[in-house]
Amino acid sequence: MRKRVIAGNWKMNKVLSEANDFIEEVAEKAPQSEKSEAVVCAPFPFLPSLLEKTKGTDIKIGAQNMHHEDKGAFTGEVSPVMLKDLGVSHVVLGHSERREHFAETDESVNKKVHAAFNHQLTPIVCVGETLEQREADETKDHVEKQVTKAVEGLSDDQVASTIIAYEPIWAIGTGKTASSEEANEVCTHIRNVVGKITSQETADQVVIQYGGSVKPANIDELLSQSDIDGALVGGASVEADSYLQLVEAGT
Ligand code: PGA
Repeated sequence: MRKRVIAGNWKMNKVLSEANDFIEEVAEKAPQSEKSEAVVCAPFPFLPSLLEKTKGTDIKIGAQNMHHEDKGAFTGEVSPVMLKDLGVSHVVLGHSERREHFAETDESVNKKVHAAFNHQLTPIVCVGETLEQREADETKDHVEKQVTKAVEGLSDDQVASTIIAYEPIWAIGTGKTASSEEANEVCTHIRNVVGKITSQETADQVVIQYGGSVKPANIDELLSQSDIDGALVGGASVEADSYLQLVEAGT
């Protein structure tokens, strides 16, 4: 039985006092459930404080990116060693905004996925097509290529522990959600791709999230689909009230 993962991605939002207010409220009110896990992926400067304030709770704290090297002359970068040392558990990798604005590629994402596993961090790997690709009927091929490259060289156990977030780029921050059937069709395809690369048993264990304008009003419908095991949420995860409703929906 796959555990649902409801992950908030704050992107580049909030200042420390707002981050603290959010996490204090969420730590107090978030429902606990065997069936689901709540993750907050926050900007680097807030991580120590968020980790401190969630000690003893089930809420997990994630980063939104990292470098693949352990250390070295990479000015401005943050390493997996640093994240692990703080107590971070998850890291978002290959978000479409990073692919678009920071030149991340399938190859660099694959290096980061390996680095995450080398330091016991759970990667949340983002894949998804542009509107042009969807209209040209290239969605499945594109997502297959991204997933295949992202998990290249991993053991089956590592693949089973990878969280894959299917995020159609045209649905991110636009208010346009893929219909739950459209989203599920691609998530099923992703599971089949993982099955081809590894085994059906491994594919059945992989948590596949949907992301792209998920909000309290549409999360139930998305989570009711056969291959959608959670959500990666941007805009609707930034306010505690709305994030709590999303977490509640996962339980
Ligand atoms: P959104 O962002 O929920 O604001 O569409 C999702 C994401 O980018 O992960």
